[in-house]
Amino acid sequence: MTADLLVVGGGVAGLVFARRAALAGLRVRLFEAESVFGGQVSRQDVAGVALDAGAESFATRGGDGPGTVLALLGELGLAGDIVAPAAGSPAWVQERSDRAFPLPAAGLLGIPTILDESLLPALGASGLARARQDAILPPEEGASADTLGALVRARMGDRVVDALVAPVVRGVHSTTPDALPIDSASPRLREEFRRTGSLAAAVASIRSTSPAGSQVAGVRGGVFRLVDALVTDAAAHGAELTAGARVTAVADDGIEVGGRRLRGIPILARPRRAPDPHRRITVVTLVVEAAAWRDAPRGTGVLVGPDVQGVRARALTHLTAKWPWIRESLGQREAVRLSYDGSAAPDAVAAAVRDAEALLGAPVEALLDHTVRTWDRWGRADPEDPVLAVGEERAGTGLSAVVRQAEALATSLTVERASGHSSAERGRMEG
Ligand SMILES: Cc1cc2nc3c(=O)[nH]c(=O)nc-3n(C[C@H](O)[C@H](O)[C@H](O)COP(=O)(O)OP(=O)(O)OC[C@H]3O[C@@H](n4cnc5c(N)ncnc54)[C@H](O)[C@@H]3O)c2cc1C
Repeated sequence: MTADLLVVGGGVAGLVFARRAALAGLRVRLFEAESVFGGQVSRQDVAGVALDAGAESFATRGGDGPGTVLALLGELGLAGDIVAPAAGSPAWVQERSDRAFPLPAAGLLGIPTILDESLLPALGASGLARARQDAILPPEEGASADTLGALVRARMGDRVVDALVAPVVRGVHSTTPDALPIDSASPRLREEFRRTGSLAAAVASIRSTSPAGSQVAGVRGGVFRLVDALVTDAAAHGAELTAGARVTAVADDGIEVGGRRLRGIPILARPRRAPDPHRRITVVTLVVEAAAWRDAPRGTGVLVGPDVQGVRARALTHLTAKWPWIRESLGQREAVRLSYDGSAAPDAVAAAVRDAEALLGAPVEALLDHTVRTWDRWGRADPEDPVLAVGEERAGTGLSAVVRQAEALATSLTVERASGHSSAERGRMEG
């Protein structure tokens, strides 16, 4: 069979693209190298319960507008299974071995909106006083900042950056606030700051438009259900999806897979470059008996600062505290997942148990099951690269960005193909 479009890679980006193009009546074939679809959205079975091995939530920015994950889940019949993390239980920061404090519940990337005394453990009296100057500083202060760090330092001072923002940025973006462009941190932050003249007010405004006040959501039963639903729906609309089929060559007018050459327009839904060795992470999931964890001593989890002695984990997510559906599935058992920089150490599981005990402040009574998965990550591709591509390398990390970009490219291609060559295709040929 010849196809209009040949999608290389069956992660969420490739699947979203293939489904949307098939819905528009295009002939689409998709090839995934691994034996299962989904890429970084993947299922694992731990202690008899299916849990996410990769992404376990998605950002809800944009609400359920066009191109969002919420809209996609709705189209796929999963709207009723969208869940918010447990309310009133923010994550904590472990700044030093003897110093931990909760993140502001209504903040954005650690930037607080309510500058009250609940921030004293994190900021101290002088840090809080400095943060409050945000309300009285002239609006020009920080207006020319390029990075999130520069903006927050100018408005709220160094302590807010170092204690609250840096651990979150490290956990979410694997970088420092001073290296993170404001627009990558939050596309609306600059505009809202200009409008309100205050950083706290800008963040409050962004937060108020998030559904249910939460920045992220999950799917009851696991985010990996999105992959199953995409595969089923894309196939139902005529897309031909093949797993276990590695594409070995890509040319302008076709691809090579399984020793055969297929003609069509290639759409890259896998990274073009080698993975960035500095962004490799290992995730250890533990299911344990640990009665004292039941009260969620560190809310939904802990972000670990670089100066914490004796703990190698970068972050801990307390899965049973964060997601009520996991609590229901596991009964009296507790589940956590810890992330580490780099490859799995030989003692990864023992270290994870020790780290979890240290971070949650209570012992594990019995280790019931565990998994260890190492993931490679990629940096951003050259935005001027004319190849038709979807996915993380082009869109940035995270399901929200990836889905939006894949939907947008599929829509622009299908709309424009209806009226002849697409501008994207022309760009590729000229490039
Ligand atoms: C541990 C972890 C936790 C995460 N947590 C979150 C989270 O909570 N929230 C969030 O929004 N995001 C999270 N992410 C990021 C999110 O999962 C990714 O940004 C997103 O899934 C990327 O989708 P993609 O389709 O672009 O890439 P991928 O999922 O990497 O898909 C690319 C696919 O291409 C395939 N492929 C590669 N080479 C070939 C070839 N030659 N031929 C055919 N196929 C090929 C690969 O096997 C893969 O399936 C997390 C990621 C990880 C690893």
